[in-house]
Amino acid sequence: MTDKNNDKMEKIVSLCKRRGFVYPSSEIYGGFQAVYDYGPYGVELENAVKKEWWKEMVQLREDIVGLDSAIFMNPKIWEASGHVAGFSDPLTECKSCHARLRIDHLLEEIGVTADEKMTEEEINKVFDKNIDKIVCPICGKKSFTKGKKFNLLVKSNLGNITEDPKEPPVYLRGETCQGIYVNFKNVVDSVRVKLPFGIAQIGKAFRNEITARQFIFRTREFEQMEMQYFTSPDDEMKEYEELRKARWNYYLKLGLSEKNLKWHKHEKLVFYAKAAYDIEYNFPFGFSELEGVHARGDYDLTQHSKFSGKDLSYTNPKTNEKFIPHIIESSVGIGRTVLAVLTEAYTEEKVGDETRVVMKFPKNLAPVKIAVFPLLKNKPELVEKAHEIFDTLKEDYMCEFDDNGNIGKRYRRQDEIGTPYCVTIDFDTLSDKAVTVRDRDTMKQERIKTTDLKEFFGKSL
Ligand code: ATP
Repeated sequence: MTDKNNDKMEKIVSLCKRRGFVYPSSEIYGGFQAVYDYGPYGVELENAVKKEWWKEMVQLREDIVGLDSAIFMNPKIWEASGHVAGFSDPLTECKSCHARLRIDHLLEEIGVTADEKMTEEEINKVFDKNIDKIVCPICGKKSFTKGKKFNLLVKSNLGNITEDPKEPPVYLRGETCQGIYVNFKNVVDSVRVKLPFGIAQIGKAFRNEITARQFIFRTREFEQMEMQYFTSPDDEMKEYEELRKARWNYYLKLGLSEKNLKWHKHEKLVFYAKAAYDIEYNFPFGFSELEGVHARGDYDLTQHSKFSGKDLSYTNPKTNEKFIPHIIESSVGIGRTVLAVLTEAYTEEKVGDETRVVMKFPKNLAPVKIAVFPLLKNKPELVEKAHEIFDTLKEDYMCEFDDNGNIGKRYRRQDEIGTPYCVTIDFDTLSDKAVTVRDRDTMKQERIKTTDLKEFFGKSL
């Protein structure tokens, strides 16, 4: 990562804290590693991201339905999915500073790729072979413990009343899609869906991530937006290509620029997968996975059929052909989407001798759409008029009332939270019944009649 990019990441993190987007969790207690809280503007941004995703995936599609499955599930699900046996990262500890580090990331730093499917023994062999070249990124020393596989599932003590050590623990879900697979039959039996069709869901997932130092990119508690699309074996790859196209276009529509996006093809596939690509975004620390678009074959429903003893096959109503549906998926984290949107929006501009920091969010994602200012807060007639205008706009848009400090300062604050429009009520308003509307991006100001405001924002927002 170059210093310039490093700098950009620091600036984004600092703006997020200072302006109420993202706070470190439990800060007054010294924090809680790799968990973050979304502040007043962060939650608006998150909600806007979810709304856009849901619209794209469910509202605009006749063939996709929504779901909200629970975080706690029968522990057998995680055995069937392969997570209990195989959902792990290779871990080492720096003997000097005791930082826990991912071996595959350490190897990546020196240009060696470790396949995620390698056994503990294989990983350690590669690690040992390269050990002279590897330094601890935290303290710079060169002494590490032997590697071991570290399971990422987060255990809870729910339901373990028997205290039988053989009884599997109840996990907090490690991904949301398992809730979709196990409801496949319910959806087919209760809603009029026919293959091919998809089930979409947004929800929390939990992973015991070893290294989590990239702000909201990798956290231990996070939210996923996943869509699992069920197809016949014959249609799987055709639908997969369609989904890949749709996902790429979705990110362009979301306002990410094409130069900041690229496909990463997985060269080594897990044994059941037909194809796997990630969409990577150019985060301040470089191109990294934003979303996975994978063709998973019939693995998921086959496993759940086997472990549950329930028949999860599907019968084509036209041909009477019976088969286990194949699945293609789109899976993305909200934190990563929010970080991509923040990265894309962060802009510094020279205005006279000053630098203006402005978050150029697309208007549909901006946490606040309109800020309403009375020019002076100690003039009751202006404050009253400003409240009146605020009340007429708040039904349709997220608005903010601000009467603090001089107008220049208020503009700067709204620029930093990315508010597209500021409306100022001044003394002229009382006589000419017009207000000043200032545009975030051009900084141009125009007088608009108060009676025309609704129409103006109807068109521009
Ligand atoms: P990575 O290789 O970065 O750990 P992954 O390949 O394990 O990610 P998946 O299991 O495919 O990720 O999860 C799907 C999506 O969920 C990812 O593309 C990412 O957007 C999001 N995601 C996964 N793990 C995390 C995390 N710890 N924090 C935030 N988002 C995550």
